[in-house]
Amino acid sequence: MNDNPYFAPGIPEDDRLDHIVRATALEGHVKALAIRTTEVVRKAASVHETSSAATAALGRFITGSLLLADNMKNPDDSQTTILRCDGPIGGMTCVCDANCNAKAYANVPDVETSYIRPGKINVAEAVGKGTLTVIRDIGLREPYVGSVELVSGEIAEDFTYYLAASEQTPSVVALGVLMEGGEVKHAGGMMIQLMPGATEEDISYIEERVNGGFPEITFLLEEGFSPAKILDLFIGNRDLVYLSGRPAAFKCNCSREKMSEGLAALGKSDLEELIASGETIQTECHFCGAKYRFEPDELKALL
Ligand SMILES: [Zn+2]
Repeated sequence: MNDNPYFAPGIPEDDRLDHIVRATALEGHVKALAIRTTEVVRKAASVHETSSAATAALGRFITGSLLLADNMKNPDDSQTTILRCDGPIGGMTCVCDANCNAKAYANVPDVETSYIRPGKINVAEAVGKGTLTVIRDIGLREPYVGSVELVSGEIAEDFTYYLAASEQTPSVVALGVLMEGGEVKHAGGMMIQLMPGATEEDISYIEERVNGGFPEITFLLEEGFSPAKILDLFIGNRDLVYLSGRPAAFKCNCSREKMSEGLAALGKSDLEELIASGETIQTECHFCGAKYRFEPDELKALL
């Protein structure tokens, strides 16, 4: 027996490290997830050299995507979330695996926007109008694809709306990235979902918690709350049971091999043109910035 009341199998021993925790509550009528993504978002920001506004937008997007990806079961499952928008950030893409790893990029990483108040970036201004698309590849013949219009561009509301409209799951999603002096101070999120069988009483209980002025996630992280403790604060004493957890990371799975497959997919005539130029070709991974160089001889081998 572990006597730590916030224990769940899989949570890192040092609970200040990035991780997700999964729980049920209200006699199993509610599924509750919370995640700390501070290092994940720091890594994304350093890989893409994002401005504060892009870091806040991309950080919320990655955090929401990781929460959404938590229900994938098989090691080969993957989820791609694509935000297409007309705001200056130009769009964002995030790919998550079934192990809480994410890789992501923003189309315009150096976008600048106004502040709602000091430290609080106007993410909706960077995003504007558009759509949120979720593609889940869970080993079926066709991937599952769901798409909704953005409702606010603040990201959390957009994920909430997606879950209600596209997956018929009433949910509460909270996401936060706190910037200080151009650096990520805290990042994290929470997702509360009503399961089939939820009663009117359950629904009003959750609504009360949401409308009762629940603090921002980054405030709680600043106060030293772990993801499990955040869920405890939100749910209160209502049969909260921690199920499991796991570390979260920004991790790219690109490789020279995959890049050469991409080059091979260009087709014969484009490849021949590249070879004829006699130059070394350099490709760059969108997700992590890794560069791969291919000599003309190596390109010939792809033909
Ligand atoms: Zn990569």
